[in-house]
Amino acid sequence: MKKTLIYVICFLALLSILIAIWYYREGRYREYLNQKNMCAGNMRVLSHRIYFYKDNNGGKYPLDLEKLKLIAEINDSYFYCCAANIRSTDSYYVYRGNDLPSEAPDNMIVIHCRKPWHNGNYGVLLSSTDILFLDEKEMKDAITQDNNERKNLNLKQKPL
Ligand SMILES: [Zn+2]
Repeated sequence: MKKTLIYVICFLALLSILIAIWYYREGRYREYLNQKNMCAGNMRVLSHRIYFYKDNNGGKYPLDLEKLKLIAEINDSYFYCCAANIRSTDSYYVYRGNDLPSEAPDNMIVIHCRKPWHNGNYGVLLSSTDILFLDEKEMKDAITQDNNERKNLNLKQKPL
């Protein structure tokens, strides 16, 4: 009888530990998805502003992201990847597309997260306005491909 009671208590303890782990992982996963959505949302807003800027400036990409403030008020938070938790130079998006011609190929990188803040993935905005999340290897390949395109367009190579 006593033994059975001990078994039941052990079983319940183990079960509660498993439930706690599941809740923790579920919470972390939800947080990861939220941050990914927020980062994509930031890049979507920046993308709209960039295209609006281009429409009003002879097809030229703005020289830096701060120029987007000239068009209309924009909250500073859009310039930072939210997954980094703090606003710093490390979380400020890399704006790679400032020297692109107005009719740049669709697969060129315009903006990306400075570090792989999203569980090892970078958020990337392409000139086609598509938003991708790439792991470190995919990102390296994308940068190489982007630099090849840049070479074809007689633009300076840019490292990651
Ligand atoms: Zn991000």
